Amino acid sequence: MIETDTIAAISTPIGEGAISIVRLSGKEALTIANRIFKGKNLHEVDSHTIHYGKVIEPKSDVVIDEVMVSVMRAPKTFTREDVVEINTHGGIVAVNRVLEIVLENGARLAEPGEFTKRAFLNGRIDLSQAEAVMDLIRAKTDKAMGVALRQMDGRLSQLIQSFRQELLETIAHVEVNIDYPEYDDVEEMTHALMREKTNKVSEQIEQLLQVAKQGKILREGLSTAIIGRPNVGKSSLMNTLVQENKAIVTDIPGTTRDIIEEYVNVRGVPLRLVDTAGIRETEDIVEKIGVERSHQVLKQSDLVLLVLNYHEPLTDDDRHLFKAVEGLEYIVIVNKTDLEQYLDLNEVKELAKGHPVITTSLIKEEGIDALEEAIRDLFFRGDIESDDMTYVSNARHIQLLKQAKKALEDAKASLDMGMPLDIVQIDITRTWELLGEIIGDTASEALIDQLFSQFCLGK
Ligand code: GDP
Ligand code: ZN
Repeated sequence: MIETDTIAAISTPIGEGAISIVRLSGKEALTIANRIFKGKNLHEVDSHTIHYGKVIEPKSDVVIDEVMVSVMRAPKTFTREDVVEINTHGGIVAVNRVLEIVLENGARLAEPGEFTKRAFLNGRIDLSQAEAVMDLIRAKTDKAMGVALRQMDGRLSQLIQSFRQELLETIAHVEVNIDYPEYDDVEEMTHALMREKTNKVSEQIEQLLQVAKQGKILREGLSTAIIGRPNVGKSSLMNTLVQENKAIVTDIPGTTRDIIEEYVNVRGVPLRLVDTAGIRETEDIVEKIGVERSHQVLKQSDLVLLVLNYHEPLTDDDRHLFKAVEGLEYIVIVNKTDLEQYLDLNEVKELAKGHPVITTSLIKEEGIDALEEAIRDLFFRGDIESDDMTYVSNARHIQLLKQAKKALEDAKASLDMGMPLDIVQIDITRTWELLGEIIGDTASEALIDQLFSQFCLGK
């Protein structure tokens, strides 16, 4: 173990607001807890047990709060150190007082992320798992939470480890080749092996990068534009989605101030809906500067909801909108089905080229379920629940994966040019290092400090 002093902080568990926990970690955790705890002798209880008692101020013997104390001895703890958790229920004043007394009796206030940092430094978790803890703290929807949990589980780490293992094998083969140049067939084999492994690993990295986009969406919300001619029901759609789905409270950095956005959670898909002002702007752009330009504006949307009017025949403006959303994820909403039909639905379906076409009457609240299902299906296609996929949702991981992929492409190019294997190997080794940075194997001290300082206090 690297650090030896005992740290403490208030650490309220996710999803529980009523009780607060003061968590201690370190060699002296039990001794300090014993000093302030009236109840069983915590040195004598079994590990991973919970005990009722009182926290007292040792000098005066004044009772501060009734508590439950969990005792968890090293090494089977989050930090791999002795951990004591004091569950208080006397509200914020009491919990602060308990922390104060713990600090007066030998513990030091933990720095932000220090518990997680210790877990990392003591080998309990790797860097990608530590970052997942951070994501958990910030997770906005249940699904995003699930992704973070899976990552914490170590799925991403396992995958990265397996890539590195493949690469290491080829590196080892090249070493053999250099050490025993007299075996001609080794040269042949190594070339073929390198080609095979680089292809295999680079394909797998590509797959990870593809799901990474979903991870980003989960964390930041799909930027969603509602477009359509005036009066088709865009504002009504926005209102319906906001009312039906609890808005997500967000603290995403970099959210543009001048555009007001609504965050809603539609069946686990977080949508960032641009408000009517923004939508009108989009409309204007379609009308004034034409399809080409509006296409560029729309390109920044992850999802477009294209609204048409069931009660009117299709117009050229409508047809232009179909052109503008070409190549994007979009859903067509044919609204006002409570009124007489003037729209040719067959033409709409043809124009939609396989994209979902949903009919709604927003006024009668019909078709909203179908719309919400279409949104969910578009982005999850059912497989996020079947869980075998590893989601990469961290910007640093994505960056490193891209660099790793680039290094592998360099290796392939060198192979194609018939470069000597020890040259090719430079790129393979580089890939191996880049992947290692994801799980913290080759991460520098500075990076580790910077990452952990982003954590909330008490995690
Ligand atoms: P926007 O201009 O596209 O934002 O359209 P609005 O949402 O402001 O709606 C225009 C008008 O259509 C309003 O009077 C709405 O009440 C009405 N409207 C919206 N949805 C429906 C619907 O499903 N049926 C009917 N009959 N009217 C609707
Ligand atoms: Zn409107």
